[in-house]
Amino acid sequence: MARTKLIAGNWKMNGSLAANEALLGALRAGLEGQQGACTVAVAVPAPYLAQVQSLVAGSAIQLAAQDVSQHDGGAYTGEASATMLREFGTRYVLVGHSERRQYHGESDAAVAAKAQKALAAGITPIVCVGETLAEREAGQTMDVVRRQLAAVVHTNGHCISEIVVAYEPVWAIGTGRTATPQQAQEVHAVLRAQLAAATGQADRVPLLYGGSMNAANAAELLAQADIDGGLVGGASLKAQDFLQIIAAARATQA
Ligand code: PEP
Repeated sequence: MARTKLIAGNWKMNGSLAANEALLGALRAGLEGQQGACTVAVAVPAPYLAQVQSLVAGSAIQLAAQDVSQHDGGAYTGEASATMLREFGTRYVLVGHSERRQYHGESDAAVAAKAQKALAAGITPIVCVGETLAEREAGQTMDVVRRQLAAVVHTNGHCISEIVVAYEPVWAIGTGRTATPQQAQEVHAVLRAQLAAATGQADRVPLLYGGSMNAANAAELLAQADIDGGLVGGASLKAQDFLQIIAAARATQA
C-alpha cells in the first residue's frame, strides 16, 4: 500500500517572530512550485503556535507542537495540554523525543500517556523511539525500540493505527552521523511487524526516519520500503534544504 510521505520539521528551541516569518514565507513560496503528494508539518516552540498558525493558514503546511502534557489541566507549571494545543489548530505533536527522554527524564509510560492525551484531543502523536550509541553497540537496538513502542501500543491499543512513529537513533540526532538506509530500514521493518501484531492496519501507520537527514541523504533513505518520511531537525531551519527533502519525498511517490 502506498502511504503518502510525511516530512516534519522539528525546529527545537530555535526561531523568533522575524525568523519564523521569513522561513515560512520561503517555504510557502517554494512549495507552490512543487508537484506530487507529500504532507509537510513544522513542529514549533509553544510560544510561536499562534503566530505560525496564522502564517501557515491557507497553505499545505501543517502545524505541530514539540511536546504535550500527560495531564488534562491544573497545577502543572510550564506544561500545555492537548486541548490547549488543539485550540491553535495543532495537527501533530512530537512525543518522546530523545531530548525530552534524556533531559526531562520522560519514561516510556509518560510518553504513552502523552500519546493518549493527544489522540483524545484529535492530534496525531509522532511517537519518537531510538537507541543510544551504547545500546546499539551492545546489540540492544531492537529490544530498546520494541520496548519504547510497546508502551504506547499497550496504552493506546484501540487507536494505534492513528499514530505516527519516528525512528530516531539518538547517536544520529544533530551529530551529522546518519543511519545508513539499510540500518534504518532494518529497524523500520521490525517496528512495522510490531505494529502489525497490534493492529490489522499497520500499513496505515507512517514510519519516519530522523537523525541528520539532509538534502543529500534524504532520497536514499526515503526510497526504503518502510520509510514513509522524515523528522528533520537542523535541516528544517534552512528553507532550501527542507524544500529539497520534501521534493525528494515527492519524487518517491511519483
Ligand atoms: C530531531 O531533532 O528530531 C532531529 C532528527 O534532528 P537532526 O535532524 O538535526 O539530527
